[in-house]
Amino acid sequence: METHDYIVVGGGSAGCAVASRLVQAGRSVLLIEAGPTDDNPFVRMPGGFVKLFGTERVQFYLSEPQASAGGRVVAVPQGRTLGGGSSVNAMIYIRGGSTDYDEWRDMGCSGWSWSEVLPVFKRAEANQRLAAPYHGTDGPLVVSDLRFRHPLSLVGLQAAQEAGYPYNDDFNGPVQQGVGFFQVTLKADGERGSAAAVYLRPAMGTRRLKTITDAYVGSIVTENGAAVGVKFADKTGAQGEARVREEVILAAGTLATPKLLQLSGIGPGDDLSALGIPVLRDSPEVGANFHDHLDVPFYVRIDRPISLLGEDKGLKALRHLVQYRLFRTGLLMSNVVDSGGFIDTTGAGRSDIQIHFIPGRPAARRSARPRALDQSRDPRPQVARDGSPALDQSPGSDSVRPQIPRGTRGCLRLRARHQGGAQDWRAAGDKEVGWG
Ligand SMILES: Cc1cc2nc3c(=O)[nH]c(=O)nc-3n(C[C@H](O)[C@H](O)[C@H](O)COP(=O)(O)OP(=O)(O)OC[C@H]3O[C@@H](n4cnc5c(N)ncnc54)[C@H](O)[C@@H]3O)c2cc1C
Repeated sequence: METHDYIVVGGGSAGCAVASRLVQAGRSVLLIEAGPTDDNPFVRMPGGFVKLFGTERVQFYLSEPQASAGGRVVAVPQGRTLGGGSSVNAMIYIRGGSTDYDEWRDMGCSGWSWSEVLPVFKRAEANQRLAAPYHGTDGPLVVSDLRFRHPLSLVGLQAAQEAGYPYNDDFNGPVQQGVGFFQVTLKADGERGSAAAVYLRPAMGTRRLKTITDAYVGSIVTENGAAVGVKFADKTGAQGEARVREEVILAAGTLATPKLLQLSGIGPGDDLSALGIPVLRDSPEVGANFHDHLDVPFYVRIDRPISLLGEDKGLKALRHLVQYRLFRTGLLMSNVVDSGGFIDTTGAGRSDIQIHFIPGRPAARRSARPRALDQSRDPRPQVARDGSPALDQSPGSDSVRPQIPRGTRGCLRLRARHQGGAQDWRAAGDKEVGWG
């Protein structure tokens, strides 16, 4: 059985970064990713990610029906390829508000105050326009301005300024509030600077890094209460096991990481016992306190056909593709969400709403629609996180007001698809997790 210093579960944003840093430090690393490689042109071209929805590289998790959202099932997309979310996201480079980190410190998360995380952000960053005191210029993560700005974004920004919101040209600087263009993780060659591209790929040259894709980690192997390895299965269902000399690092994302712990017997004891999973450690907090941001879409009617609608079809799409391939210009150099802002609606000195101006939305592939949303007969517009294609797209439609009080929490709970208990759970792969 193979043994490495470290095993990293999940080759997403965090997994690629931590694997690369460990390899740089001279350690041997096995990185196991459930999805396929990121070798896909729609991953590389900034505007291509919308075409990944409905493919094996994006997975939708569905919530339990949410009482606070009118009983709707909320769909949350997650990247499922090397680079994880950073290979399928809108590339917006946002660190979060400084007060949020200080709040974490105050809640007992030592090492996570703003003054402690800022140097780490700077070490990671290679900003192409901004520098100290808020930005780094020598790190692996290339952060740059978009080379394509949609005319509707300009109109949106001007309208916001007329409404009294100040222009901000650095949301990661001293002040987060205001409206402006986002900086993005875009490389100089015009391709997406995902964590796989900027962290993992350079480390792939060394024999200390082994990467396995299309392999799903089903459980952590423990001995005497300590993690000593993982069990995984490849696409064909063939089982494998690998061992560590140092640590197993879980970087499977916000939803799949607690799920993997629960499958390994670490989680709410009663829930695990009910599913027939032997309880290794009764930890009710594993899977608890999940919270996320919802998108609340507002649509406006425009009087000229200049939105993105239809630009991904036929000759128009071909023109954009040629323009991108030959000149690295045009619509495909856009991340589709080039501008937006942060608003402090309560005057508390911190943003509580993030705005995205989206100049239209290409029609979603039918296969990308989560079934539970599709089947809904609820005539009201759906609330969903960015990327959920089941939103009401008719211009001028009503929208749902934000009703998510700060501090709202949910929890992740395993749900058996079959009656077979734990074994079925492991066989169910990465599809089954619900939260309520
Ligand atoms: C559509 C979309 C748009 C977004 N836009 C932005 C944006 O513009 N800016 C921004 O800052 N953030 C954005 N995000 C969020 C951002 O991408 C995520 O916060 C970030 O990628 C999370 O990183 P992570 O390492 O925690 O998890 P992920 O990047 O999700 O990585 C987890 C990886 O683990 C793998 N995995 C899961 N379970 C297993 C298992 N059992 N075995 C093996 N592998 C497993 C998954 O396949 C995945 O590749 C967006 C996300 C999405 C989905």
